Amino acid sequence: MARSCMHCEWCLSGDHNLCAQAQRALVVGRHGGFADKVRAHFAWVVPLPEGVPSATAGPLFCGGVTVFNPILQLGIKPTDRVGVIGIGGLGHMALSFLHAWGCDVTAFTSSPDKEAEARELGANHVVISTDSEALKAVANSFNVIISTVNVSLDWPAYITALRPRGRLHLVGAVLAPLELSVFALMMAQKSVSASPIGSPVTIANMLQFAARHSVEPITETYPLDQVNEALEKLRHGKPRYRLVLKQ
Ligand SMILES: [Zn+2]
Repeated sequence: MARSCMHCEWCLSGDHNLCAQAQRALVVGRHGGFADKVRAHFAWVVPLPEGVPSATAGPLFCGGVTVFNPILQLGIKPTDRVGVIGIGGLGHMALSFLHAWGCDVTAFTSSPDKEAEARELGANHVVISTDSEALKAVANSFNVIISTVNVSLDWPAYITALRPRGRLHLVGAVLAPLELSVFALMMAQKSVSASPIGSPVTIANMLQFAARHSVEPITETYPLDQVNEALEKLRHGKPRYRLVLKQ
């Protein structure tokens, strides 16, 4: 984000990321990602701490803070068992952050070829999500499940995988409505929630934490004059996991 209104209840409370007025993205709808310089309100400008290379900082400001924010917002504890659905741009950073936070981390992926990498990133367990028996086997296991995907899944199966008071938290923008049984939530006081990126203070804390624990997104770097190849890979390939353009 490049700015928010700075005078609403949310901006004044430090929840600038929840501002409904005058929010402006840094890249989307502007020249941001391809510009030599960008303009942003000072409150949204966060200096990079020592140990966070600029080449990997970009994805931290977007996907990184999106998956770090729920750790603080939901009060996830090091003793919690946390699941991450989808090992992609957001999910791979979620595994690293939650591992560094001290949680028991389970990766849910539909790609068996990502299992080894998920474990390297910090997953203690990997569940192949296309295997319905494997999903059944983890019933009543998780305090929190964070979904990073933008496709519809068997949501009731994930609700079943939660422990009492557990929460399914969405940071991936699924377009289709979620179909869920209220009883499945009610009887064990489970809930479903979602969140956007974090506030500027959360971004600053996330960067400090990333520097201290060497949490780094996995990136592929392209020089700017190969931007068309990079975009082609984004459209048709499977970037692992973020593409960075270098001026
Ligand atoms: Zn505001």
